[in-house]
Amino acid sequence: MSLAGKVVIVTGASSGIGATTAEAFAKEGSKVVLVGRNEANLMATEAACNAANSEAELLLITADVTVDAERIIDTTIERFGQLDVLVNNAGIFEVGNLLDIDVAQFDRIFNTNVRSVFLLTKFAAPHLIATQGSIVNVSSIAGLRSLASKSVYCTSKAALDQFTRCCALDLAPKNVRVNSVNPGVIVTDIHRRLGLSPEELDDYYELAKDKHPLGRVGEPKEVADAIIFFASDSSSFITGATLPIDGGMHC
Ligand code: NAP
Repeated sequence: MSLAGKVVIVTGASSGIGATTAEAFAKEGSKVVLVGRNEANLMATEAACNAANSEAELLLITADVTVDAERIIDTTIERFGQLDVLVNNAGIFEVGNLLDIDVAQFDRIFNTNVRSVFLLTKFAAPHLIATQGSIVNVSSIAGLRSLASKSVYCTSKAALDQFTRCCALDLAPKNVRVNSVNPGVIVTDIHRRLGLSPEELDDYYELAKDKHPLGRVGEPKEVADAIIFFASDSSSFITGATLPIDGGMHC
């Protein structure tokens, strides 16, 4: 599918990977629906999309994916009349040893990283079938590999990967493809949101370099490029894939 004129929802478009992905779709000439909770940050992404393509058609939806899934899809259809690509990118990252964390962390992470994706996918599916569209989920290397002190996050992304594969099977007869990108450490606000100081953040990224065989951490554009690939005709015979974008970390 050429992406020009296609209607694309990007959740979590107010920051990091989602913001860069929204910009990439705008550059391709897609009509981009920017979803996030932070309105000021969404407007910053809107400005970046306009800078990438002055004729970009954009729709901003200030929403919480854990409660507004149906409204996000309905508002998109009301405005553009169709949906071609759903990028389930919004997600949260929290850490903690099993002995220290409580069930509230489990509920927060699963509500955002899994339950909201289920709801958005469910509400979007009939529209994607109508356009023969596709879904790209933003998972993590944490879905494919096990990490200490990240049991809930890892489990949420493993669940998301299994959801990607099962949805790929359910929707394949309707010619809707479902794939996932699984990033390693990518420089975004997600690590700052853990409450790390600037110095701790520098140390985190420095240490992370060694865990990626390519010897560095990744940039949001390197994930956005793969999302564009999965949304386009270039991947027309690929569905149910979970693609590590991790400098070889999964090896
Ligand atoms: P980020 O900069 O913190 O961005 C996260 C985005 O998700 C923000 O736009 C945020 O919106 C949105 N979001 C979170 N909860 C939401 C909710 N309830 N409703 C609506 N939007 C919500 O992080 P990022 O690194 O770009 O993360 C994007 C995705 O990549 C996540 O799924 C994450 O798990 C995955 N990932 C990231 C890395 C990494 O190293 N960065 C690695 C592997 C996977 P608001 O700020 O507006 O609330």
